[in-house]
Order: sequence, then C-alpha cells, then structure tokens
Amino acid sequence: MERRYRARRRLGSCCSGTARGGRAILGSGGVPTTATTGTRGRRARRVALIGLDCGTPELLFERYADDMPTLGRLRRQALWGSLESTAPPLSIPAWLSMLTGRTPGELGVYGFRNRTDHGYGGLAFATSRWVRVPRVWDLLGQAGRDSVLIGVPGTYPPSPLRGSMVTCFMTPSTDAQFTFPADLREEVQRVTGGYTIDVAGFRSEDKARVAQQIFDMTEQRFALARHLATTRPWDFLAVADMGPDRLHHGFWGACDPGHPRYRPGNAYEHVVRDYYRALDRHLAGLLEVLPDDTTVAIASDHGARPMLGGFCLNEWLVREGLLVLAEPPAGPTPIGKAAIDWSRTTAWGDGGFYGRLFLNVEGREPLGTVPRRDYESVREHIASRIERLPDPVGRPLGNRVLRPGELYPEVRGAAPDLIVYFGDLRWRAVGSLGLGHGLYTSENDTGPDDANHSEQGVLVLAGEGLSHGRQEGLSIYDVAPTLQALLGLPAAAGQRGRVLG
Ligand SMILES: [Zn+2]
Repeated sequence: MERRYRARRRLGSCCSGTARGGRAILGSGGVPTTATTGTRGRRARRVALIGLDCGTPELLFERYADDMPTLGRLRRQALWGSLESTAPPLSIPAWLSMLTGRTPGELGVYGFRNRTDHGYGGLAFATSRWVRVPRVWDLLGQAGRDSVLIGVPGTYPPSPLRGSMVTCFMTPSTDAQFTFPADLREEVQRVTGGYTIDVAGFRSEDKARVAQQIFDMTEQRFALARHLATTRPWDFLAVADMGPDRLHHGFWGACDPGHPRYRPGNAYEHVVRDYYRALDRHLAGLLEVLPDDTTVAIASDHGARPMLGGFCLNEWLVREGLLVLAEPPAGPTPIGKAAIDWSRTTAWGDGGFYGRLFLNVEGREPLGTVPRRDYESVREHIASRIERLPDPVGRPLGNRVLRPGELYPEVRGAAPDLIVYFGDLRWRAVGSLGLGHGLYTSENDTGPDDANHSEQGVLVLAGEGLSHGRQEGLSIYDVAPTLQALLGLPAAAGQRGRVLG
C-alpha cells in the first residue's frame, strides 16, 4: 500500500495562462517559441533539461525502475546510462561543470564552500558570482534565444539572462531577490502558493516533516516548470529538483536492507519507492506540455550510496601532531572556530561528503610552516598515512587520496592540497573537533544523514536523431557540448567533453 502524503492545494490552477491540454493544443501554437533554423539548414531544436539532484543509477534504472513507467518509456526511446560526475561529486561544482563543460579546477570551485584566499579566514559559499565562463543559457542568449531556468544549482544571486530565472537552493530565503526578471517573483509566489527553496533542516530526526516537505517541494517544482514552460518563450528549459538528494540523505537507511541503520518494518520503509512513484507522475505531467520538437534530457549531478559513518579528519591530524591547538576544544567545535596554533601547524582539514586537506605552506599561508621545497614530500607523507588508515575494527578503510593537479588541467583559486574520499566515499569526513568519539563516528557532525555521494549520476537523452540504448562512459563534461549541439550552438573554447548522439 502506497503511503499517502497530504496533497498541497492545487498548484498553478490560479493561472489561466497555464496550458494543460498536452501536445495537441501545444503543437498548434500553445507555447510561444523563438526556435530558429540553424546555419546548416538543420532546425535548431528545443531542449528541456530535467535535473534530479542526486539521481542514482542503481535506484532509477534498477531498484525503482518498475515504479517509474514514464521514465521507463522515455528510456526506451533514449540514449541513457550512468553519468560520471566531477571529482569531487558535489552539487555545486558538479552542476557548474555540467552546464559550462569545465572542471572544478578551471572554475576554482571545489565544494559548496571554498577558501577565497590562502589566509585562515575560513570558507565562503560559492555563488553565481564565482562563475566566470558562459553557461549553456549565456551562449544561447548571445544567439538571441531564450531560456527558462528553475532551481538550477549555482544560479543565486540571479543574474540577467535572455529569458526567466528562478534561483537555486542556495537562495537564503524568498525575502531575497530570487528571480530574473525581478517581477517574476510575485508570479512564482502566486502560482506555487509560496515558493519552497529547499527542505529546511533536512538533516533532522523529525522524519514526518522532512518527508512531507520533500514530496511537496518536488510537486511544486514540477508545477512551476509546467507553468513557465507554457507561458514563456524558450529554447532551453532547465529545471532542477533537490528532492531526490534530500530524500537519499534522510531516508536511505529506512529503505535499504544493506544500510547499517535499516530496521525491517520501520515507518518509512517505502518512502523512497513512494517518492519515485510520485516523481514519475510529475515527470509525466511536465513531458505532456512540452512541444513535440523538444529533446528531453534527464540528468543528475552525482549519485548516492549508504553512508557507513564518519572519520574525524582534524582529530586525526591533531593526534599525528600535524595540527596543533592553542587550547583544547571545550566541546564539539567546527574547525573554523577552533583555537589553532598556526605557527606549529602543518596541515588542517575541512569536512563534508569528502575531506579537504590544506597544508600550511611557508610564503603561501600567513604563518606557513612547510618550506616550499618540502611541499611534495610532506604532502606525499600525509597522503600515504591517510591511505593506510584502518576502519574501526582494523580492516583497511579503503581511502582514496586525490591531488588537484592530477585531476584538473588547470587549478584555480585556493584549491585543497589533497582531496580525500574516506572509505571511497562510504565514510563522511568530519571536520569538527571535540566530539569525544575518537576517530570514528556513526553520527554526522551536522545532523543525521544516511547517504554519502557517489561518483555515478544518470543521463537519459531522448530526441530526434539521437541513438537509443544504454551507453557506457558518459561524462558530466559531455552534457554542455551535447546540449549546445542540440540547440545548434558550437562548442565554446576550452570546453571539455564530447557531443553525444
Ligand atoms: Zn547534488
């Protein structure tokens, strides 16, 4: 029996402009269009990108495939497969890379929060202002064509474009300006009955509230997409929903017998399945209002996997004598608030889905202690120690240590010196000190969380002229050049990836 979630009030029904008649009506001119003819006589088509943040191939293509008949039908007419994410597989760098065709190193964005310089001032959120290269919609706008963007990560604060934009989950609140043009905001609030930017406090034990908000947010996102798809001119429509990501972090352990937190018969055992059934209905509702000449891309920025626990990176650095504290923490303390004796510190780290390790380098950091000539040897010494770390019962933890210079053709900004995947991303990196757990935790320092990110997301690409069937080796860097080719735009200089077809 499918668990029932309270339906929100009918969305979009207040708008007489919302076309609900499906393709027949739309095909006869229901949607304003600016589609043009390409230079080689090939019609430059429309593209709709439906982003499912954290969409995971094992769930969408396997475990819940039978619960998603719309996605299944689309896949049968599509090129599809696992989509390899960026390193690290995190929403902000991954979405930026997907829509620019550039690596995190070239973008200088290595996470949600990044060092702004080599001082000790901590980290700042990467916003749309960090993006210095054109995204797909910028290139399209330069060609005089329109885009509609809803919730695409990395779009806050809103910036001018040819078309319409509703910003992403990084938007602080709907009190902030979250649309372009500015007067779109009132319409969004009216159509949605109050726009939900994200599930507030999704790392919570209040599972009933979190589940309801995830279902509501996804319903609202798709209703707004239907509304804007049918009332605005567009060649490129991109809507991204954070629902799957919040769901996996909140409920993976309730639904997966392979997860250490799983308890048979728990109240949320079927919430993930029920969510994907609902998502499939919303998907059907959006697809039916898209004009026939639309190429549909469904993509995720990364996938997810069960999180087994956390490794306290800074606690370990303290024990190794590499991070020296001026005074011990009185209780749980984020690294940014710890009293660090920089003059005696070799390295410190920042936590999250992956670990970032920074060396305190002479002439680079204000109180650097690692002479430049020793940089490589110190870094390799720490890397090899991390690679050899055991799990709590003495087996190898299976850590992977990556070096930005080997991952990216260019390394901009204040990049981490080492990128660490604890347990190959089965373990989270815990940055806080003073947790009193030793080196390993079963709890996350920022609230309960069942899932970590994985490197494989999804891509389903359906449209005229595209091949059908599963393809291996798809990369997130292929998305921008492919979308541009479908839209009749050339690849931009410096873009990675290949055009899929
Ligand atoms: Zn994400």
